[in-house]
Amino acid sequence: EAKRLGKNRYIFYNDDLEYRRVRKNWIEQHLNNALFNNEITVHYQPIVNAKTKAIIGLEALARWYHPKEGAISPQEFIDVAESNGLIIPIGTYIVQMACQDLAELNKRGFENLFVSINLSLKQLKHPDFMPAVDQILQTYGLNAKQIQFEITETVTLQEDSDLIKTIGELKNKQFRIAIDDFGKGFSSIGYLKHISVDTLKIDKSYVFHVLSDEKIAKLTNAIIIMGQLLHLDIVVEGVEAKEHLAFINRFSNIFAQGYYFSRPLPLEEFIESSINRN
Ligand code: C2E
Ligand code: MG
Ligand code: MG
Ligand code: MG
Repeated sequence: EAKRLGKNRYIFYNDDLEYRRVRKNWIEQHLNNALFNNEITVHYQPIVNAKTKAIIGLEALARWYHPKEGAISPQEFIDVAESNGLIIPIGTYIVQMACQDLAELNKRGFENLFVSINLSLKQLKHPDFMPAVDQILQTYGLNAKQIQFEITETVTLQEDSDLIKTIGELKNKQFRIAIDDFGKGFSSIGYLKHISVDTLKIDKSYVFHVLSDEKIAKLTNAIIIMGQLLHLDIVVEGVEAKEHLAFINRFSNIFAQGYYFSRPLPLEEFIESSINRN
């Protein structure tokens, strides 16, 4: 009996690996066409002032909907795109869509928002990145101050001088820089010495446990206090409940993002929902 269970487990494990391998292959084979067929879109999730609930910005989040396969999460396809180089055209496309939508928002009276765009390391390091961004900004007549780039902590962790230079260049051009998923993994805060950032986005794994885990609650407090000492904007990601909001509202001047306020929405739905709010 034990042997059978062991064997079944082994098969089960194998099936899981096999499933992931097949899925990854499928994504690799279809990602190129996805861009061509306009299957990739951008949704927007509000970033709000935790106290007033006023929306200050929107995070642009890539979405892929395949007519047969359905929705494929960015966690799956961004990874593939990074390994096969498609992140360059896809990333540029997302910057372009986000800027086009920002111009549309400005036109429709949402003039004080910024759009926050995730970047991958490869994108940031690519020589075409900066010229493409300059070109897009010019096309839509936008001010760099309305655009924030989110860089994940694991990326910034590598104290890579080219990378530090590129980020410095973005800062000089008045773009905002955010560290995304702050506190995730085993990372150091040393890079804050080398790059100047505007925003820390605290990884959602923190807020999820502030109510049940005293140690995580204290770490969250410490990150917030550190960020505020450095005059950074603090965005707490993954706010799903009013108790989460109450926890962070013990601090003043703090920002939040999460399902409690809104899920990521297509631009039109965001516009409609905020018109209905007012
Ligand atoms: P991220 O940059 O940390 O984005 C936030 C993720 O948290 C999004 O997942 C969002 O839908 C989710 N989220 C927001 N509020 C809540 C909440 O209250 N509870 C929970 N459980 N989740 C919440 P999404 O859209 O699936 O994106 C996953 C990741 O994929 C992103 O994490 C980002 O790292 C990456 N990604 C998405 N779009 C892009 C993109 O255009 N470029 C790059 N390079 N990466 C992207
Ligand atoms: Mg992000
Ligand atoms: Mg990110
Ligand atoms: Mg994040």
